[in-house]
Amino acid sequence: MMSKPQHDGQQTDYAFFFDIDGTLAPLQDMPDAVQIPATVIEQLIDLSKLSDGAVAFVSGRPLNQIDHLTQPLRGAAAGTHGAEIRTLDGQHLGASADTQQLRAIEQQLALHTDSMDGVWIEKKGVAFAVHYRQAPTAQQVLHQIVQRIVDGYPAFTVQAGKCVWEIKPRGYDKGKAINYLMMTPPFIGRIPVFIGDDVTDEAGFHIVNQQQGISIKIGAGDSEATHRFAEVEQLYRWIGNLLNNKITLQTMRSV
Ligand SMILES: [Mg+2]
Repeated sequence: MMSKPQHDGQQTDYAFFFDIDGTLAPLQDMPDAVQIPATVIEQLIDLSKLSDGAVAFVSGRPLNQIDHLTQPLRGAAAGTHGAEIRTLDGQHLGASADTQQLRAIEQQLALHTDSMDGVWIEKKGVAFAVHYRQAPTAQQVLHQIVQRIVDGYPAFTVQAGKCVWEIKPRGYDKGKAINYLMMTPPFIGRIPVFIGDDVTDEAGFHIVNQQQGISIKIGAGDSEATHRFAEVEQLYRWIGNLLNNKITLQTMRSV
C-alpha cells in the first residue's frame, strides 16, 4: 500500500498561500533559472490534497509562469501581484490594461534603459519588470525613470522588489488577492497562512494578520509578518514537518 502522510486534521482548518521567488525557490540572477525542487512540488501536492485544494500561489509572475513553475499542480493562484486571479474552480479575474498604454510604456522604458548595461525589461502581460540585479548602482536612477513614466499613466503604479522595479495596474496587490480567494471555496472559512520574502508580500502579511492567520517572512528586512524563517530551506523543512504533524499551526497563530 502507498504510504500516505498521516495527519491530525489541522490541514483542513487552514488555507496556504505561497509566494514563489525567494520563498519556494531560491532567487537566481535570471528569473528564467528559478526552479522549485521536485521534492518540494511533491510536498505541495500532498498539502493540497490534505487541505482539499486550499493551497494557492501568490506571485509577481503571470499565471502562465506560475503554472509552469508549479506543474503538475494547477490550483488557485494569483499572478502579477494580484492583478490576475484564478479560483480553484477555474474562474479567471483579471485587470484589463489599455494595450495602447502598455505599448507606450514599453517604448518609453526601452528608450530610457536600452543603453543601461545590466538592466533589462521583462514584459509580463499587463505589467513590466525592470530588472537591475546585474546593475545594482542603477537602483535610484531607474526608480526616477520608472516613476516619471508611470506618472503619465494614472492607471498604473510602481512596485518595489528585490533588484526590480515593477509597473503594474493600480489597485491590485497580494493582500487583496488573498482576501478575494479567502471568500471562495475551498478557502472560505479557513485560517490563512501566507509565506513570502519581499516588499510586495507585506500587503499579504497585513491581510493575513487581520484575519488572525499566520504570516511568515523569509530572510531579513522590516516586515509585518509575525514569524520569520532565515532561508528558503527552513520553509522546506517546515512544510515537511507540517505534513508529518511535527508542528501544530495553532501555536503559531497571531491571536
Ligand atoms: Mg518573492
